[in-house]
Amino acid sequence: MRNQQHTKLLFELSRPGRRAHRLPPLDVPAEPLESLLPSEALADAPPPLPELAEGDVVRHFTNLSTLNMSVDTHFYPLGSCTMKYNPKRNERLASLSGLVDVHPLQEDASIQGLLQMLFELQQMLAEISGLPGVSLQPAAGAHGELAALMVAAAYFRRQGEDRPVVLTADSAHGTNPASARMAGMQTNTVKSNRQGLVDLEDLKRQLDRRTGVFMLTNPNTLGLFDSQILEITRAVHDQGGLIYLDGANMNAILGIARPGDFGADLMHFNPHKTFSGPHGGGGPGAGPICVRDFLTEFLPAPVVVKEDDAYRLDYDRPLSIGRVRSFFGNVGVLLRAYFYIRSHGGEGLRRVSEDAILGANYLRSRVQHILDVPFGEFCMHEFVASASRLKKERGLTAMDLAKRLLDYGFHAPTVYFPMIVPESVMVEPTETESKETLDAFAEALFRITDEAQDLVHEAPHSTRISRPDEVQAARKPIMRWTPES
Ligand SMILES: *Cc1c(COP(=O)(O)O)cnc(C)c1O
Repeated sequence: MRNQQHTKLLFELSRPGRRAHRLPPLDVPAEPLESLLPSEALADAPPPLPELAEGDVVRHFTNLSTLNMSVDTHFYPLGSCTMKYNPKRNERLASLSGLVDVHPLQEDASIQGLLQMLFELQQMLAEISGLPGVSLQPAAGAHGELAALMVAAAYFRRQGEDRPVVLTADSAHGTNPASARMAGMQTNTVKSNRQGLVDLEDLKRQLDRRTGVFMLTNPNTLGLFDSQILEITRAVHDQGGLIYLDGANMNAILGIARPGDFGADLMHFNPHKTFSGPHGGGGPGAGPICVRDFLTEFLPAPVVVKEDDAYRLDYDRPLSIGRVRSFFGNVGVLLRAYFYIRSHGGEGLRRVSEDAILGANYLRSRVQHILDVPFGEFCMHEFVASASRLKKERGLTAMDLAKRLLDYGFHAPTVYFPMIVPESVMVEPTETESKETLDAFAEALFRITDEAQDLVHEAPHSTRISRPDEVQAARKPIMRWTPES
């Protein structure tokens, strides 16, 4: 009852006449709203909104949020995803009112500050990648792959060349072949050799005048920098093909190596992996792309340009592949990347990568007596171990380890990817974790391998749901919470 009266009051207050004394006069007809609408369309009563006290709502959502693990609550060594700490400073800066209270349809002249930051971000990404043409538009790494492949296709079309084949590495992320197919190209897989690097012989066998792009991740998804990179890029270029660098692992080489210098022609960044953007849950991302000079004119439009001392959005790009995202991309996410890069500076970015590599190698050396690391003497920012021996000797799978770690307060590493390592456990500690945390994680792994098998097989014991059908959970998630479920 109280609810209905309350809603009625709000309803009354929201009529134009009532608000006139507080707001500037609105351009609305003087007659009451009711007389303008057909009577069948009028509601009999205000809508029966649910009645809940603010405290109840806050508790509900706060409790829901703590059911999840996040970088703010737990160590999160999810390999290939770079779950590093998201500095709260980025959040504060990105929510300054001059940045959030603007509208994308405002005149360029009224958003000069914002355009300047986006322009500078384009320049910084060009410097970090060694590739001068930048588009900030794509909405995620995978979307950057698609946009860049569309750029490559537009370039080949313009050259009058028929190059429909995209080669991807067998250790690649599934997005690589998927993006190629979405861009209307055919895909073939290049094998890895016994060192976990690109099998050069297999690559050379497959290269021909129909090869458009070789998509390569370097450091690769095994956490190894491919030492044959110059030979690879030369072989592809000799056949007139282009090199696409999947930049998901840029966290390992910031300020140390530049993709443009080792032969990449196009690449994407994942700001949520490399530049500390919040990550996961299908939330907002970004996937800016960088390309060589001769590909710049095909980039999505608009791009931010500087003329004299003014910044403007340039739409006049006749060879552009067009828009891939509304307005100028996911600006809130891009700004967080901007603040992160500016806060660290060149030296600081290099230190990020050095510390990430140090942390990963430390942890690798601590656990490799229980988890074999089949490839590489050293790793970059992550390593891929195998639980095969544990499975044979103790019946413990990668999944068992992953699940039991949750009971120890650690998010699981990535398991069963990349698929070229059986029972793979892919660990990426990142530069933002202390030695104490890495030690605690290693100790938890040691303890788990000594525990009773049943205890581990039935883990996790401390979470609300233990072992859901993961495929069903991803494909048909139950989005409604009920006390019984
Ligand atoms: C994360 C990742 C991608 C996809 O990036 P999103 O931003 O998640 O779309 C592509 N390749 C590799 C190697 C990755 O780790």
